[in-house]
Amino acid sequence: MAHKYIIGNWKMNNNPLEASTLLHRLDEKVAADQNVSVVICPPFIDLYPLARDLNKAKFRLGSQNIHYLDQGAYTGEISPAMLKGLVDFAIIGHSDRRIKANEDDKIIAKKVAAALRNTIRPILCVGENLLDHQHGVAREVVSGQLTADLSMITAAEIAQVLITYEPVWAISANSQVGPATPDDVLPMVRLIRQTVGGLYGEAAAQAVPVLYGGSVNPHNAKAYLKLEGTSGLLVGAASLNYAEFSDIIKTAQKLA
Ligand code: PEP
Repeated sequence: MAHKYIIGNWKMNNNPLEASTLLHRLDEKVAADQNVSVVICPPFIDLYPLARDLNKAKFRLGSQNIHYLDQGAYTGEISPAMLKGLVDFAIIGHSDRRIKANEDDKIIAKKVAAALRNTIRPILCVGENLLDHQHGVAREVVSGQLTADLSMITAAEIAQVLITYEPVWAISANSQVGPATPDDVLPMVRLIRQTVGGLYGEAAAQAVPVLYGGSVNPHNAKAYLKLEGTSGLLVGAASLNYAEFSDIIKTAQKLA
């Protein structure tokens, strides 16, 4: 089976001490596996202390956001140039940022390009909201987001991008409907590959990692991981619990 990615998005949780404790607990529970990349995306303030004693055979770090410029008068922001060497990945276009921080596709496209020019792999999140879902326009929304968000990168750069299908209505914090079913996810994974294929060709469509995110837990993880064309999971709430997150990682390792 192809390489898998299990990504933990801690969102706005865990101070440096709590972050270090959680990572140590996880380290005790999880074995290294070259077929499964485990990426921890903590708040910015935790990145530097975690990087100092990170077990790199088991874990990689990602940020939850980046700015689209490398430096400048942007009070309170963190640039990709500052994160270069500290993180390997950056979540970009998460629905929390699209909705609560008003980030549109133009900004997200600039952030994708900014990550790549600083050798950070973007974990680009796309997904429709509940209204789009109910009105049956999810496909148009997702392919439109993808096309716009990837508009600033070249065919060579797409090899570094990961894409996560994360329907807004399925995220646990929104808890409007609950998780998307595997039957909801499979056609969207295919659509994402098809859209990438239209933009960058068939080889890129086959190679790009496409993940699912939204209310993933130890009970449902296997069903998503077994879906054809699905390359891993973006996990929010369950990544804050080392027992649950390690179970999800072990499920991916068994399948890989
Ligand atoms: C997320 O917000 O990225 C996410 C996947 O959250 P949860 O797993 O809690 O639905």
